[in-house]
Amino acid sequence: MTTLLLTHEDCLAHDPGRHHPESPARLQAVLDGLAGPEFAALERRLAPKAARADLARAHSPDFVDGILAAIPARGHAALDADTIVSPGSGNAALRAAGAVCAAVDAVIAGEAENGFCAVRPPGHHAERERAMGFCLFNNVAVGALHARASHGLQRIAAIDFDVHHGNGTQAIFEDDADLFYGSTHQYPLYPGTGAREERGLGNIVNAPLRPNAGSSEFRAAMSELILPALDAFQPELVLVSAGFDAHRSDPLAQLRLVEADFAWATERLVALARRHCRGRVVSSLEGGYDLAALAASAAAHVAALMAN
Ligand SMILES: [Zn+2]
Repeated sequence: MTTLLLTHEDCLAHDPGRHHPESPARLQAVLDGLAGPEFAALERRLAPKAARADLARAHSPDFVDGILAAIPARGHAALDADTIVSPGSGNAALRAAGAVCAAVDAVIAGEAENGFCAVRPPGHHAERERAMGFCLFNNVAVGALHARASHGLQRIAAIDFDVHHGNGTQAIFEDDADLFYGSTHQYPLYPGTGAREERGLGNIVNAPLRPNAGSSEFRAAMSELILPALDAFQPELVLVSAGFDAHRSDPLAQLRLVEADFAWATERLVALARRHCRGRVVSSLEGGYDLAALAASAAAHVAALMAN
């Protein structure tokens, strides 16, 4: 069955500044990595802008309006020390969240089995009332709550293998037993959350990894903690916060994963989704700051989504 690729050139126009690691070149590298003949079977779609009503489920309406009002007409504005916006950032953020909603719509309609959203800014640090850590809107949380509100899904999971803990997704999910959040991440590291003891209502599973942990520790955390809990949750939709900054080449953290680890994890998530929910997986780009490692890792991830 089909794998979707959602993206939009507006996501290249979010410019946090020349020396910022979350650069437009990241998305270009991902798209270049998906340009080869082995990806010809992807169904490519343009990401729509998220509706305000969709954003205002994961965030408050005032926060949504405030973010869009903070976008400068020229130059840059800082939402926090490392979350910088430019004139193109508003449309980029709307497309990023809109991509996840549109991919959710498509997989639930049966137009595709799964999908990957090649978008930026990333989302998993954005809390209900706070943009932070390069993130404006929490794209995955917006997609999860859209799936519930627009399609009546009940049990929705987000799995996050970005090297940073998705504090925003956890905060939005933790009081709702019908939402599941499972994360592997380096710990301690920014943003400081993600201890194993943070369990929400039993619907949060954190698998912190020590600096310099590699493939074996990552695969053990997935196999022993995340995947069994996800299986027991019986998801109707699996969202993925696909950050690739746990790669050994990444400059922002100290885990030592390789492309094959991202493919391995993706294969297992796809298999689990096929058992529970007709393979419905919607993945969205989060971090990844070494351009070559990012491109190769995203390609490995998408190839695993496409595999039968
Ligand atoms: Zn990250």
